[in-house]
Amino acid sequence: MSKFFAALLIYLLLLPVTGFSSELILSDQEKHYLKKHPVIKVSNEMDWAPFDFVKNGVPKGYSVDLVRLLAQKAGIKIKFVNGYSWYELMEQFDKRNIDLMHAMSKSEERVKKYHFSQPYMPWRLSYILRDNEQSINSPADFKGKKIAIGKGWSSTKVLKKRYPEAIFIDYETSLQMLQALSSGKVDIDIDNMLVANYLATENIITNIKQGGFLDLQDAGIESLHFASHKDTPELVSIFEKAYELITPQEKTSLQKRWFVDNNKNTLLFSKPETAYLEKKKIITMCVDPDFAPFESLDKNGQYVGITADFFKIFQQEIGIPIKPLKTRTWTEAIQAAKNRQCDIFSLAMETEDRKQYMNFTSPYLRFPLVMATRMDVAFIDDIRRLKKSKIGIVKGYAFNEIIRKKYPNIEVVDVENINDGLQKVVNGELFGFVETIASISHAIQRDFVGELKIAGKFPEKWAFSIGVRNDAPLLLNIFEKMVKALPPATSQKIINKYISVRYEQKPDYRLLIWVLVAAAILGFFGLYHYRKLSKINKQLHILKDNLQEQANRDPLTGLYNRRYFHNIANDLINLAHREKIPLSIIMVDIDFFKKINDNYGHAAGDIIIQRMADIMLDFIRKSDIVARIGGEEFVILLPNTDLQGAVKLASKLREQVAEETVKTTHGDHVQFTISLGVAALENTDTTIDTLLNNADKALYQAKHSGKNRVNVYKPTI
Ligand code: GH3
Ligand code: MG
Ligand code: MG
Repeated sequence: MSKFFAALLIYLLLLPVTGFSSELILSDQEKHYLKKHPVIKVSNEMDWAPFDFVKNGVPKGYSVDLVRLLAQKAGIKIKFVNGYSWYELMEQFDKRNIDLMHAMSKSEERVKKYHFSQPYMPWRLSYILRDNEQSINSPADFKGKKIAIGKGWSSTKVLKKRYPEAIFIDYETSLQMLQALSSGKVDIDIDNMLVANYLATENIITNIKQGGFLDLQDAGIESLHFASHKDTPELVSIFEKAYELITPQEKTSLQKRWFVDNNKNTLLFSKPETAYLEKKKIITMCVDPDFAPFESLDKNGQYVGITADFFKIFQQEIGIPIKPLKTRTWTEAIQAAKNRQCDIFSLAMETEDRKQYMNFTSPYLRFPLVMATRMDVAFIDDIRRLKKSKIGIVKGYAFNEIIRKKYPNIEVVDVENINDGLQKVVNGELFGFVETIASISHAIQRDFVGELKIAGKFPEKWAFSIGVRNDAPLLLNIFEKMVKALPPATSQKIINKYISVRYEQKPDYRLLIWVLVAAAILGFFGLYHYRKLSKINKQLHILKDNLQEQANRDPLTGLYNRRYFHNIANDLINLAHREKIPLSIIMVDIDFFKKINDNYGHAAGDIIIQRMADIMLDFIRKSDIVARIGGEEFVILLPNTDLQGAVKLASKLREQVAEETVKTTHGDHVQFTISLGVAALENTDTTIDTLLNNADKALYQAKHSGKNRVNVYKPTI
């Protein structure tokens, strides 16, 4: 073999390791920018350690090192601008004395003014307390308390609005905020825990603790970004391209350098709790091996499900492994817990019986209980009327105990697992089987379509907690703190993610399941009745068949056309009325579209219409429906979304479109805006025609008050 081929072979072998894109490929625009700006001026804060700070005149921190690494990869020169607080840095940025900001979170205002990169780091804020603080257990207790916040931070405005009864005090730096807390000048400090942790260690502040996380995701505060001025997006794109070249090893070593305790949230736990975990080394967990979609052991013995995802988060927080104990049934798992073979129950309800050997945290998941029966049974609106009927419940389940006590009329029969129970209902051995709505829907859809349905609902909800062996009070505290620290949005994300994955294979049931489960999660369960599953299912079959028909689509965008939209919208409105769930629509019209056609040509107009379709599809959920109902007019139908939710989506859409630049085939860069009208389903006689009409009225108003805005339909009385 010649040397050349040997070299080539070695090169090819190395490729998967080094990756193909070891070189930065810049566009003409980006090259042009760098030519005009030989040195990039980058922000550098005074004391936002460990992200961005100055020590002895030298810029330091995770974000600073990251910028250095990216600049090196891109072969560009940078100069840090420092000596300013964050607030002053922003002023310097506005005066164009700074080209690039980093370690910046998004806010509505900022997105309008600046051009942001993709996120490079998740970003969460905590409320931090003095370690002897007893009276603040959640943000609900902020009322009347003094809170230290960062001047000019994007979170500051959101917090002031969200907690109007708290007393906010602005500080220039994170250290000042922490010192104010430590010395008792304020009761609460709001900051990122990595920052507080680092500063506390450096400055020997020992009397603080993490109260919990603040959920500001809906205000857009969840990650850190680079940002440039609006007219220089190429600077951000250069850094984004360089970021793609960073290897996982480089990332890990950066994190190790700055976040000593990245995996362990030491401040969430007290010293004795941390010591307990260090000594404990591993936590053994009793689980239900057959309780999908919550938890189960799959074919390979892997622990999977909604609960498994929650425990991934918990495991990260405590920094030691949590191992599921393999058992064949839940009954076996309970026996194992009694024998002290495991330390915790992953997902269990508190009962008198279990309290003999376990303590329980606050609940972290709640689901309504429903009953499955054969198809020929009429809907049961009051479960107490079920006299002497045999109802199956899995042996050892908490509500087995509870329902026996509470409904002495019902004859509860122990079954082994959900499938055993449902099979006995099919055979006629049992009248019904009781379980959570999520697992029953899941099992019926998998194995009993057309045979079983949901025919009744109990007023009780199944509230799941973590059970902790009652001889380990520290471990109970540890889990209680983690349950309390879970942001609601995180729980929601886990459930949504799992359920959409879970039900994807069977599209005929997806919408129904989605409606039911979403309703359950959102707390609507009190409002609707479990009507005949088969009836709704039949309708959904029809909808699905329609879905596949290409004749229903608009050829330019692939969106649904007006006729089809009309049909499906009426069906969904009926469903919404029946199940008492909200429904909204958004009507969208591109502004000055005639001008766009005139200035750039009809083909450019078509590209914009297509881009508009793509943007909308990006923004919506699977259950939402987008249609093109006119030349540059669209409508979005949002089942299970109220007016407020629809307005939020509409506003986001408007902002996104205003940020887009479309490149035409002639190389023109075109920007455009949209106007939106929003309306929600109101009373029983609203049809799609009235709804469209209302949204259209709102849209008309939006156009008349200057375009590029969202307007809501207000009924005139
Ligand atoms: P306004 O902001 O008030 O909505 O004004 P406008 O100019 O956007 O709206 P108008 O409804 O007056 O004009 C819409 C134009 O859209 C007229 C029509 O020529 C053009 N149009 C309709 N369908 C298509 C299409 O499929 N492709 C292209 N390129 N243009 C289209
Ligand atoms: Mg129009
Ligand atoms: Mg228009």
